[in-house]
Amino acid sequence: MNKKWEAGATPWLRRHQPETTWSAEPSPVQCMFCGENTVKRSASDREQDPGRLELHCHNQLCDAHEMVLLVKRDGAGADCRADVRALHLLDEGALDVHAAFPPETKSYSMANLIELVADRGNVVERRMRKAPPVKN
Ligand SMILES: [Zn+2]
Repeated sequence: MNKKWEAGATPWLRRHQPETTWSAEPSPVQCMFCGENTVKRSASDREQDPGRLELHCHNQLCDAHEMVLLVKRDGAGADCRADVRALHLLDEGALDVHAAFPPETKSYSMANLIELVADRGNVVERRMRKAPPVKN
């Protein structure tokens, strides 16, 4: 098996598990938290995004039910990704998420839910959106 990966290439796990499923995965991999071979691609994993994997652990004794594996540095443009930059801001203490986005309890109408589902196609684009060019 080819052990090489370059920025922008399909991650190995997507070749190993070509489909996302809601049920048990026939080719699970080892969970980084509990150590069981119970991890599969999450149903929310987006194939179009090569720098981010969304994972699900099927072990009922493991609390790591949903995980994100994100490439923070790849020698290409990973550090320009919106999600990577947000993590850096959080780590540096420069972004207080609770102040910027206060927790709220929201109830959705059917029209809101349809709108949310229709917007899912933009998720990858939002994740990967790069910073605007710096003006001199
Ligand atoms: Zn686990």
